[in-house]
Amino acid sequence: MEITELSLRHTNRLVEDLVHARLNTVDYFDYQITNNDVYEKRMNDLKNRTFAREELSDYLLSYHRKHFPENHAVTANIERLKQPDSLVVVGGQQAGLLTGPLYTIHKIISILVLSKQQEAELSVPVIPIFWVAGEDHDFAEINHLYVSQNQVIKKKAIKHMQSEKIPVFHKELDKKECWNWICSVFETFGETDYSNTLLASLKHTLSTSKTYTQFFEKLTYEMFSEYGLVIMNSADPDLRKMESPYFQQFIRKNEEISEALAVQQEFMNSAGYQPIIVTEKTSANLFYHHENHERSLLHRSKDKIYSVDDKLTFNEEELRHLAEQSPERLSNNVVTRPLMQECILPTLAFIAGPGELTYWAELKKVFQVLDVKMPPVVPRLNITILERSIETDMMDVEIGIEDVFTRGVDKAREEWVSKREPSRMTPKIEDTKKQFEQIHNELRKSALTIDKSLEPFLMKNAYFIQAQLDLLHSHIDKKIQQKHQVEMEKFTRIGKSLKPNDGFQERTWNIYYYLNKYGPNFLDEIVQLRYSFNNHHKIVKI
Ligand code: ADP
Repeated sequence: MEITELSLRHTNRLVEDLVHARLNTVDYFDYQITNNDVYEKRMNDLKNRTFAREELSDYLLSYHRKHFPENHAVTANIERLKQPDSLVVVGGQQAGLLTGPLYTIHKIISILVLSKQQEAELSVPVIPIFWVAGEDHDFAEINHLYVSQNQVIKKKAIKHMQSEKIPVFHKELDKKECWNWICSVFETFGETDYSNTLLASLKHTLSTSKTYTQFFEKLTYEMFSEYGLVIMNSADPDLRKMESPYFQQFIRKNEEISEALAVQQEFMNSAGYQPIIVTEKTSANLFYHHENHERSLLHRSKDKIYSVDDKLTFNEEELRHLAEQSPERLSNNVVTRPLMQECILPTLAFIAGPGELTYWAELKKVFQVLDVKMPPVVPRLNITILERSIETDMMDVEIGIEDVFTRGVDKAREEWVSKREPSRMTPKIEDTKKQFEQIHNELRKSALTIDKSLEPFLMKNAYFIQAQLDLLHSHIDKKIQQKHQVEMEKFTRIGKSLKPNDGFQERTWNIYYYLNKYGPNFLDEIVQLRYSFNNHHKIVKI
């Protein structure tokens, strides 16, 4: 495997401005990630903070014992969290099926790479932590994969009937349904020497998982425990005990938190960046969890905190009491989750996707309310896997990787054809259509002097003539495509592999396609490449 880099524009303007140091960073973040000493600075700042390290380490150890087989690298990392100088690199994602789109894998690789680099650089333990966002509800976002079937890219979703209000953390797997779904996904990959082993391993992991989240965490653990990746789940009720004092803080400063968010969002708007956090000004930014696992967002008025259906009402003291006695009844939303992470983890860096980066920028003043700095927010690595067969196709049709991303495959294909078919039929036909229309227009004018009622017939007649020319055009196009069929298929393959659904590969494709095709060492090889966090797109040739 080999890695090359491309400098591509980010579609997210805030990210684009951030990585090119065009953003007035202090308005949005506490650290300037393009500075060389950013991590050293952050490490020094964290020396003034205290964390419940023993409690965190004990909690994580028990969580891992409960859910995963023992792995020395992971246990050692969890132990190292007790050392007063240890730090973490953390990032999170929703629990996608079969680990979801490739960007989840890229985020984990980013966490592993940055923690390893900084451990060597700073000479203190830097622990990689992957935080699964289990509180999320949006099952529709995680219930599918894309596959290539009968030449087209199709969304393959799993059927599941359960209340929409239940967080994914509690959603139980229908194992039979899930197994059938896995088999149908693998069918589209095609059988290889690796398929049976891979499927047997998936079947085993599925049989030991109760929920979608567990299945996701176990697969992630199997892939990355060797590298010491520690897993957390933000929806785990046992984690709430650790979070209790901070919930109380969030309740006490509730109004200030909302104010701070609103002020920063307004500022971003005026600076031309579109905020993405949608909350009402009355939101308490905390959820209440009912016995049946459903949850209600809490709101705040002058003298009470309540759920929208008004079935629940608390005064501030009652809610703080609840946070103290039964913290498992509460959970964080998009605003308080980053704050909670900052309270419980000694975070050297937070690895973010482009969307997260924007919404963290909205939280700058919210962090100030708690009197803590926002950790360095580092964009995750962007990776495209370039298969050898696709690279060969690209050479055959003379298209470069940069072209694929900037000009696009369709444009490149059109240009390729027009170079080989210099008769340039498209402008000729357009010209012919125009001339026919002019002549026919004259004809219409004369005919209308005979009888005005001829108009509908004349218009239809004009339309048919034009339509015939369009038909001729598409017939010629088809012939061109047939004549160059082999090359046209190459263009299609290139597009499908590198720009599926007209976006980066990492948003559509899933890691199991590659594991099935290239075997179990595939991931290790990718993890062990040398990456630099320079915000260039990484092309990994395999
Ligand atoms: P073929 O597999 O015969 O080449 P396809 O049309 O199925 O034809 O796919 C074209 C290319 O797109 C593949 O060679 C591969 O590089 C990529 N591709 C197809 N399906 C997937 C998938 N599920 N995950 C990742 N890449 C895929």
